[in-house]
Amino acid sequence: MSERPRIDLYSDTQTRPSRAMREAMANAEVGDEQRNEDPTVRELCSMVAELLGKDAALFLPSGTMCNEIAYRTHTQPGDEIILHETSHALHFEGGAPAALSGVMLRTLPGDRGMFTADQVRGAVRGNGPHFQRSRLVSVENTTNLGGGAVWRVDDLDEIADVAHERGLSTHMDGARLMNAVVASGVPAAAFARGWDSVWIDMSKGLGAPVGGVLAGSHEFIARALRHKHQFGGAMRQAGIIAAAGVYALKHNVERLAEDHDNAKRFARLVAQIDGIGIDPDAIETNMIYFDVAGTGLTAPQVSQRLLEHDVRIGPFDERLMRAVTHLDVDAAGVEEAAQALRAVVGRG
Ligand SMILES: *Cc1c(COP(=O)(O)O)cnc(C)c1O
Repeated sequence: MSERPRIDLYSDTQTRPSRAMREAMANAEVGDEQRNEDPTVRELCSMVAELLGKDAALFLPSGTMCNEIAYRTHTQPGDEIILHETSHALHFEGGAPAALSGVMLRTLPGDRGMFTADQVRGAVRGNGPHFQRSRLVSVENTTNLGGGAVWRVDDLDEIADVAHERGLSTHMDGARLMNAVVASGVPAAAFARGWDSVWIDMSKGLGAPVGGVLAGSHEFIARALRHKHQFGGAMRQAGIIAAAGVYALKHNVERLAEDHDNAKRFARLVAQIDGIGIDPDAIETNMIYFDVAGTGLTAPQVSQRLLEHDVRIGPFDERLMRAVTHLDVDAAGVEEAAQALRAVVGRG
């Protein structure tokens, strides 16, 4: 079995639960989660519902399941979901919107993973029987392939208003919503206010090993609960893993600012390397995409060579690489990663 590289910037999913988090897990009070009898799961769900300004929440095994159960709950087969062309649900969920909900996806272009209310207005279809029914608008905050960008609340509100006026529901993939909150100072509930369903991932920058929490109205959550059972997401003594989420919300939110500082630090260092294309001023949260085409190496080659320096940064395509900062890599770690990159590309 291969050890993970000493400095692993592949993703903020690479965090390992800390000793204190493991203690909280070991000591968790548990019950039968399927019967709503697990006190720790209930605690986590009420914390997240309150954080997001919603009535209720569901604990699920993954962020993917949060998206897919929300899609299933909002739509009927043949409906259409409007989302950005770089969305996680479109590219990295195994075709689940089609396989599990039978929906069509209508993609919108736009800078940094974002689109406008006007684009949504233009994309909503008429009511004729020829047309699939436009049913849901789905956004990511922060945007993943959009570079970890943070939406403006005004833009989110405007899109949600257009969607609701036209009879569509709204869904926010908040895998990294707490990064957006810490970077902007905008409360999570303010980002979420126009959005009928919103979830946060416990296993990204928050540092828990498993889980996502999906929030919405009482009525939405009651319907989503049936799909949670259908999709096999109902658990038993899940308080063991929910305890990591409770711990993360108490201890690992404010510190996301360090990840954002480290991302900027890394971007500034990398920008000084000849042949690497990056705009360090565009870094808003914990993701750094950079272009290595000017070094004469491909991104997979650079990634491979970095491993010899005990540094992992994933290739995104032939020329782009993506580094993500998180709580298991400190400032010295990102400095070392930047040095390794300089050595690997053998320039300036
Ligand atoms: C990681 C991620 C997901 C999926 O979450 P998992 O917990 O890995 O299933 C969904 N959306 C975005 C934007 C993500 O970054």
